Amino acid sequence: MKYGSANYWEQKHKIGKLHKKARNRRKDFLHKLSRKVSDSFDAVVVKDINLQHMSQSLNFGKAVYDNGYGMLREMLAYKLNEQGKILVKVDKFFPSSKRCSVCHEVNHDLKLSDREWTCKSCGTQHDRDRNSCKNLLDEGKDILNRWASGDSSLILAPSGVLSEKKLHPQAHSNVRQDGE
Ligand SMILES: [Zn+2]
Repeated sequence: MKYGSANYWEQKHKIGKLHKKARNRRKDFLHKLSRKVSDSFDAVVVKDINLQHMSQSLNFGKAVYDNGYGMLREMLAYKLNEQGKILVKVDKFFPSSKRCSVCHEVNHDLKLSDREWTCKSCGTQHDRDRNSCKNLLDEGKDILNRWASGDSSLILAPSGVLSEKKLHPQAHSNVRQDGE
């Protein structure tokens, strides 16, 4: 069809409607998921990763940027906050994937493609994501304990998000650019 023709605009309109439908479906799913998680737990730990930076450096393009993780974190934050619960944000430089959750040795050779790996120090076999989650949970609990005992390097925002006070210089501006 010709650019600018009646047919063109009609197709463009149809495609726009489909995109909107997909967006709404995803949003609906994220609402249900965040509701379920926030109702089930007293605190939730997430990593403060920068999705925009990640999508650029890894060449995942828009797929990662659009995957709704930022939206999910936002929904989790306010749904937890409504119930007086806490969302713990772990610093994006915390080596959650590279650290062995058993002995805490950091595996500097771990590549993104390594889905499973064995710790050279203690011999534990890891599933990459499971290991990463264990580390994040441990770190999150540690942050909560530090906060509970009055550690002044942590701050609980009015939004119910608990994180390190001293964020890296660029962290704030990058997060804003993510459209969060
Ligand atoms: Zn180990």
